[in-house]
Amino acid sequence: MSHDKSEYWNTLPKTMPDDLLLEAIESSYYPAEIPPCHICGGKLSIASIGGGPTIWACTPTEDDVDENGKWVFKPGRSVVDDHYSKSRWQQYRHGDSRVMELVKRFKELKGI
Ligand SMILES: [Zn+2]
Repeated sequence: MSHDKSEYWNTLPKTMPDDLLLEAIESSYYPAEIPPCHICGGKLSIASIGGGPTIWACTPTEDDVDENGKWVFKPGRSVVDDHYSKSRWQQYRHGDSRVMELVKRFKELKGI
C-alpha cells in the first residue's frame, strides 16, 4: 500500500470559510511564544543562535535604575551562573514573518 503525502490535505474540505482557513495558516506559521524563565518568571534573552534551535536563557543582569544605559547583576546572580544554565529554553518554531504579514494584509482587506 502506498503512502500518499497529500492524504492529509485530501481530508480537508474543498472550501473552507475564511476564518477557519486563516486559523489553519496562522497556526502553522506563527513563531513560538518565548516563555518566561521557569525559575524566577523573568524575561529570557537569546543565548545562542544558528545551526539548531535558538537557545534562550534568563539573563543575570538588569538595567541599572540609577544610571541610564548601564546594567547591574540581579541580586544573587553572576556571569553564566547555575540559574542561567538551568533556565535554558530551546526555540524550534521560528514561524514565517512573510506569511504572517500576508495574513495580516488579507484580514485588513477583508475587514476580518
Ligand atoms: Zn530566571
